[in-house]
Amino acid sequence: MVAHEYRHKELLLQFQSINSVSVMTTCLKSIERHATTVYTREVFWDVKKEIEGVGALNQINKRRILNTMVYTLEEYENPNVHIIASFGRSTSKVSCQCNLWKKYGYLCKHMFFVMKAEHLKEMPDKLVLRRWRADAKSPE
Ligand SMILES: [Zn+2]
Repeated sequence: MVAHEYRHKELLLQFQSINSVSVMTTCLKSIERHATTVYTREVFWDVKKEIEGVGALNQINKRRILNTMVYTLEEYENPNVHIIASFGRSTSKVSCQCNLWKKYGYLCKHMFFVMKAEHLKEMPDKLVLRRWRADAKSPE
């Protein structure tokens, strides 16, 4: 192979690896980037759907109860269902009443919404279960 062909191939490989790994497609880039590093590939695509789902949520109300921020949310085209999600500013605890986390073990769009509203860049460690972790290091 001549040098320029080699270079071309190298650039192509670089381009492919950038596209398959690091290009962030949601508007919550830091959160998505963190998700690519902690989650296994299989579950990442499901998590990403939840991150994308943030775009269809509206905030109805936001209240502060001591150190907990309580968000009331609704989904676009589904205004009759109100979902309560919260963030503990002293505990960094994100929670939601929709039970997706309990069922599947990864964050729901409402939790990602709260992360967006609170300017969080990374998912709290406790909320990323070992069974979904790419590194499988931290305890469940
Ligand atoms: Zn939820």
